[in-house]
Amino acid sequence: MRSTMQEFPLTIGAIRRHAAAVHPDGQVITATADGSRSQTYGELGLRAARLANGLRSLGIDGDQRVATFQWNNAEHLEAYLAIPSMGAVLHTLNIRLFPEQLVYIANHAEDRVVIVDDSLVPLLAKHLPQLETIEHVLVAGPEAASADLDALRSSGKEVHLYEEVLADQPETFEWPEIDERDASAMCYTSGTTGNPKGVVYSHRTSYLHSMGVALGICSGMTWHDRVLPIVPMFHANAWGLPYAALMTGASLVMPDRWLQAEPLCRFMREARPTMSGAVPTVWSDVLNHLDQNPDINLSDHLKLVLCGGSAVPVSLQQALEDRHGIYVKQAWGMTETSPVASAAGAPLGVEGDDVWHYRGGQGRLLPGVEGRIVGDDGQEAARDGEAVGELEVRGAWVTGAYYKDDDAEKFRDGWLRTGDVGKLDPLGYITLTDRSKDVIKSGGEWISSVDLENALMAHPDVLEAAVVGIPDEKWQERPLASVVLREGATVKPAELRDFLADSVAKWQLPDAWTFIESVPRTSVGKFDKKVIRKWYADGDLEVRSAQD
Ligand code: ADP
Repeated sequence: MRSTMQEFPLTIGAIRRHAAAVHPDGQVITATADGSRSQTYGELGLRAARLANGLRSLGIDGDQRVATFQWNNAEHLEAYLAIPSMGAVLHTLNIRLFPEQLVYIANHAEDRVVIVDDSLVPLLAKHLPQLETIEHVLVAGPEAASADLDALRSSGKEVHLYEEVLADQPETFEWPEIDERDASAMCYTSGTTGNPKGVVYSHRTSYLHSMGVALGICSGMTWHDRVLPIVPMFHANAWGLPYAALMTGASLVMPDRWLQAEPLCRFMREARPTMSGAVPTVWSDVLNHLDQNPDINLSDHLKLVLCGGSAVPVSLQQALEDRHGIYVKQAWGMTETSPVASAAGAPLGVEGDDVWHYRGGQGRLLPGVEGRIVGDDGQEAARDGEAVGELEVRGAWVTGAYYKDDDAEKFRDGWLRTGDVGKLDPLGYITLTDRSKDVIKSGGEWISSVDLENALMAHPDVLEAAVVGIPDEKWQERPLASVVLREGATVKPAELRDFLADSVAKWQLPDAWTFIESVPRTSVGKFDKKVIRKWYADGDLEVRSAQD
C-alpha cells in the first residue's frame, strides 16, 4: 500500500525557511576584538538571499563547489544556508591544514569561489596561486575593507568585498526546488595516511543528522538555548550544531578566532551560552583556566558541554562537573558519519559512581545509525561488552563511498569500517579502546593507549598524557608515556607507574616515560600521536625508565 503522505524534501532550504519563518527572533552573536556583534535569524534569511544572488552573479549556477575559509561567525552561517539552498555545494576548508593538503583538497573538489574571513586573508593569499579552479574570492568580516586585498589579487583571481557584493543584491532569491538526495556540502577527512578523502553529504542526510543532534538524548536543544560551537565549522559541520540551532530556534554564539581559554571564557561570560561543543583538549585548557581563576563562574548559564573527537577522560568530566558545575556529555562520530553517531549517558536505574562506567564510554547510537563489532576473522562479534573488534556502522547519515576516490577497504557489505576498535554491550553501549592505528601490540596482546591516557590524566600532577607504541625486540611493541606535568609538579616516572598500577594490569604498564611541554595537536585539536612517534624515532625525546 502506498502512503498518503505528502512529499516534503528534507533540504537545507527547508531549514532556512523554517528558521526565518518560525524563529526570526533567534540570534547569531559573533565575538569581536572588543565585544560582539549580532543579527537575528530573520535578518540572516535575507542576507542568505543576497549572498545567493551575489554568487549567482559570479557564475555559480548548478552544483559547483563554493568553498569557505572562515572561523565560526555570522558570515560562515550565511554561507551554510545560502550555498546549499541555491543548489551549489558548500565546501568548508580546514584553515589549519598543511598547505599541500589544502591545495589538494580545493583542487580535488574543483572549488570555484572561496569566501574568506578578513583575518585569514594573509593565510589564504599564500595558497591561492595554487588553487587552480578558484575564480573568485569574497572577503568577509568587519575589517574586510582594510585587509591586504592586493596579496590576493596577485594570484590573478578576481577579488570582491563580501559586503559590497551583498549590498548590490535583492533580499529575495528564486530558490530552486532541490532533490533531497542531491549534494549539499562536502568535507575532507584530515587524512592521517595518504591524501585526504572527500565525504559528500546530501540535503537529506544533513537534515536528518541535525535532527538527531537536536534530540534530547544528544543535545536536547530548544529555543531557550544559546549554543556555542567551539568545534570549527570546517571540522565536520561543527557537529551539526549550526543547523540544529536553526531548526530549534536556539541562538548561536560564535567565537570567531578567539579560541584560547582566556578570551573564550571572557566571551562565555558575556554571551552566556547554555551549551557548547568542542574536542577534549579545548575543555582541558578551559578547566585549567577555571582552576586558576576561581572567580570565573560559567555554571550559572553553561549547562551542557558536548565533547568528542577523541576519548573524553572521566577525570576531565568529573573535574568540570565537581569543581565548576559543568555537565559533560561524550559523543562519538567521524567525518564519514556527518559526524555525530552516538552519545553517552547512563541507562535507567544506574546512579552514583556507577554512571561513570557509561559516561566514560562513547554511549549509545542515535536512531538512524546501526553498529556492529567485527573480529579479526571478519565475523560479527558478540554484543556482550567483552568481545573486542572493529566498530562498523551504517545508517541514514553515514557515507557509502568517498568522492572520486575508491577505497573498498573502508567498506564491508554496506557497512563503514570506522578504524575504531572497541566493544558493544547488550544495552547497545559502545566502548572504544583505541583507533586501530594507535593500538599497542605487545607480545600478541593489545594494550589500549586510551585506557592508559585516561588513567594517567586522573593523576593530580598530570595535565595531559599521550601514549604511543614504540618498537621492542622482545614484545614487538611497548607503551611510551609522554606526560605534561602541571606547573610546579615534580613527580617521577616510578610514582606515576605506581599510581597506574591501581587500575591497570601490570604487563600493560609503560616502561618508557618522557616529560614534554605540551602534547602536539592535529589540525582539529586532537592529540597528534604521529608527531610523538616521529620525535621518538628521530631521538628527540629524553626517555626515562619506569624505575627512575
Ligand atoms: P580525523 O581522522 O582527522 O580525526 P575525524 O574528525 O573524522 O577525523 O575523526 C574521527 C575519529 O575520531 C573517530 O574514528 C575516532 O577514532 C575519533 N573519535 C571521535 N569521537 C570519539 C570519542 N568520543 N572517543 C574516542 N574516539 C573518538
